[in-house]
Amino acid sequence: MYDCAIIGTGPAGLEAALTLKARNKNFILIGSNLSSEKVYKAHEIKNYLGLPNILGNDFQNAFLNHIKLMDINITNDMIIQIYDMGDYYALQGKEEMYEAKSIIIATGVKMEKPYIGENELLGNGISYCATCDAQLYKNKDIITIVDSADELDEVNFLSEVVSNLKLIPLYDNNLENRCNIEVVNEKPVEIKKVDKKRVLITDKNEYSVDGIFILRKSVPLSYLLYGIEMDGSHIKVDRLMKTNLRGVFAAGDIVGKPYQYIKAAGEGNVAAISVVSFLDELRRNKNEN
Ligand SMILES: Cc1cc2nc3c(=O)[nH]c(=O)nc-3n(C[C@H](O)[C@H](O)[C@H](O)COP(=O)(O)OP(=O)(O)OC[C@H]3O[C@@H](n4cnc5c(N)ncnc54)[C@H](O)[C@@H]3O)c2cc1C
Repeated sequence: MYDCAIIGTGPAGLEAALTLKARNKNFILIGSNLSSEKVYKAHEIKNYLGLPNILGNDFQNAFLNHIKLMDINITNDMIIQIYDMGDYYALQGKEEMYEAKSIIIATGVKMEKPYIGENELLGNGISYCATCDAQLYKNKDIITIVDSADELDEVNFLSEVVSNLKLIPLYDNNLENRCNIEVVNEKPVEIKKVDKKRVLITDKNEYSVDGIFILRKSVPLSYLLYGIEMDGSHIKVDRLMKTNLRGVFAAGDIVGKPYQYIKAAGEGNVAAISVVSFLDELRRNKNEN
């Protein structure tokens, strides 16, 4: 059981980790051990205090070296869903399950929009994790939409379990049909439920299947943590980075504009200090009871 789980390894998540480390907390930092593609893909950064004209790659190295110096590890995983267990949270990762008394959500924002009908069918014939849900579709027909070649291992795993798999890769590819995988180079538009089937409508066809897997680098927030209060497409927080849920804090792009490194890092620091206060309060309450 960790004191805190930090989800996301961009400037917000990394800064939160530095602060929790300095405050001697037992935490886990979950995300990518490359930090964030919004860091290393930036060309030249000119607006970060003390680091004029730094290239994205050098910025990434500076971040990763700093957390290494502080002896902080990144757990390379993606959190699919968080469950409120009453006095702690259980986090379902693609690789493992984690438990923590508090959470900092620092997942950044994804610009891509959900497909028409996707939000309405969340958790109802639409899945974001092959490892978690493949067995539900044993010997059934599914469609899998992937946004990068990184997801192909998951596709192969799914193909071993299901009966037929249609694969829609949303990137330049030269994939060929094989075994029970049929490659469909079309653009998904809408998802519907028709009787017991899910129907995917693309720019060219309609496919009726038992389930649809959408394997992206992020999952919709409403799916990630049920009941979290939003302000448009951002998580609603106060000045202490507190959300409406007890023990859940958020920082960085996910809580709103401006989308800037320095703001994200600053909010990561505030969120971590709020976690420290929250943990102190938990301990005080426990001692009193
Ligand atoms: C090309 C480009 C150039 C930019 N240039 C500048 C600039 O010059 N100056 C500036 O101030 N800002 C710039 N920005 C904006 C800046 O990148 C963002 O404001 C900043 O990265 C936000 O940090 P963050 O930590 O909130 O999120 P991100 O940096 O987006 O990091 C979020 C991390 O969380 C991970 N994640 C997401 N979901 C999950 C999950 N479920 N489980 C585990 N991990 C997850 C992501 O993979 C990612 O690694 C630029 C952005 C881009 C795209």
